[in-house]
Amino acid sequence: MTLETELAAVRDLDVGVIADAIERIGFECTRCGHCCKGMDEEHTATVFPDEIRAIQDAEGEVWRDVARPMPYGLDDGGDAVSGETFEWALQTDDCGDCTFYDDAGACSIYGDRPLICETYPFSIALADDEATSEPMGSVVDSDGPVRAHECEGLGRDISREDAEELAQALKERAIREHEEAIGVRDNYEPTDVDGVVVHDSEGQKRPDGTALDARE
Ligand code: SF4
Repeated sequence: MTLETELAAVRDLDVGVIADAIERIGFECTRCGHCCKGMDEEHTATVFPDEIRAIQDAEGEVWRDVARPMPYGLDDGGDAVSGETFEWALQTDDCGDCTFYDDAGACSIYGDRPLICETYPFSIALADDEATSEPMGSVVDSDGPVRAHECEGLGRDISREDAEELAQALKERAIREHEEAIGVRDNYEPTDVDGVVVHDSEGQKRPDGTALDARE
């Protein structure tokens, strides 16, 4: 399937069917913080460029305080990190936790948190054998297009209203993931510069979010 075909299929998904699956699997956040902490390795949660700007606007932060280049594919050997990557991840603190996970164990940007956080621990898969992203952890349950990843809140009762709200956000996230992937593919241009370059749906950027064209 092409990305465009997948996007069309995701857009066709019935929110009610997604909600049915979430209701059957069950979920209630226990506020354990597992999905906000680095655990054995640095926390990685994908955040889209416009989500970064929304958090910047709400929090008065600069780009680097919100997001960092997704480390997968980067060469961190030697003195300096270098290479190309294709996503942004939420910024982390010195402990490797999400920078917005506060001392009280709560999300300090809850109302503006990215879709990945709003929809954890669920994802959408269009095919049974579709690979699922590693940062979400192993799939432990599934129902139709919905996959449930490791989380202690699974199996708990969820109201129909909450399941439908979660289903709507999950569908939106799946659409946005495909739109972002199409944008990355269409805007990709090989680069030959030192340091780190992030290829996102808007073009090539440095780790501080500035366009490569504006500086190189
Ligand atoms: S943005 Fe909030 S919900 Fe998302 S990982 Fe960070 S602390 Fe957790």
